[in-house]
Amino acid sequence: RALFTESFHRLLSTQTRGKLEDKVALITGAASGIGKATATKFINNGAKVIIADIHQQLGEETAKELGPNATFITCDVTQESDVSNAVDFAISKYKQLDIMYNNAGIACRSPLSIVDLDLALFDKVMDINVRGVVAGIKHAARVMIPRGTGSILCTASITGVMGGVAQHTYSISKFAVIGIVKSLASELCRHGIRVNCISPFAIPTPFVLGEMSQMYPHVDAQKHVEIVHNVGVLKGVNCESNDIANAALFLASDNAKYISGLNLVVDGGFTSFKNLDF
Ligand code: NAD
Repeated sequence: RALFTESFHRLLSTQTRGKLEDKVALITGAASGIGKATATKFINNGAKVIIADIHQQLGEETAKELGPNATFITCDVTQESDVSNAVDFAISKYKQLDIMYNNAGIACRSPLSIVDLDLALFDKVMDINVRGVVAGIKHAARVMIPRGTGSILCTASITGVMGGVAQHTYSISKFAVIGIVKSLASELCRHGIRVNCISPFAIPTPFVLGEMSQMYPHVDAQKHVEIVHNVGVLKGVNCESNDIANAALFLASDNAKYISGLNLVVDGGFTSFKNLDF
């Protein structure tokens, strides 16, 4: 009977307490889209969140909207000193960093042919989408290794799984993110630190809507997301940033305590049967 009562109370407490109670998370690119949805989800699950973003006004507005458990810090992930400062800020404010989510990234259209590829733009995208992620992991590991625990997440993309027409630069950058995750998971597992990434597809954030309107300027961007969804993802599902936030919550939490080095594809089934040729 005592065992039953104890189990019952444990079950009750896991249902009422958030999955990230007493955890501190730093999320890059959290002023908007997937990062913002994840910051909201983490806070609703008991975490304290540092919103690190290059966009100061949007970041401050987001932190205000999310309440006292959200704090904004200006951070350009291409500047290692900004990333290092953001991590140190988390430590000085909360004495710990449990979750580092390297989510900041930019979209980029590439020409149809590699012959016409703009290498200056290539460098810019790699600086944010790849070097920024490496800097995030480097500085998170610096403070997580001594504690022997931590969860590091990154946002890759389905274009990092299968490539795509007119996507060379972006696709290469996201293949690199998945490679970084695999490589770093193998080193950091020895320190009790898990490293995973999520690969979304066509979540209607400002990022995707902007991309769509560049490709098809004559048609409403939101309409294009609907078209893409109609050609090959779960029917009747209205995908949103919150779907990625749910995946991030799972990977960040102790529910995923035995998962590291994973690329979790969240695409409504798209990559399982279709080429990315829109
Ligand atoms: P978004 O544009 O809504 O948000 C991106 C955020 O990153 C913005 O707040 C922006 O200010 C910030 N940012 C940009 N450059 C930065 C820098 N140098 N330093 C710090 N912050 C910077 O886009 P989103 O869709 O939420 O994208 C988030 C991540 O998801 C990106 O890595 C993107 O590649 C990836 N992704 C998105 C989709 C999708 O369907 N939306 C699909 C695949 C991958």
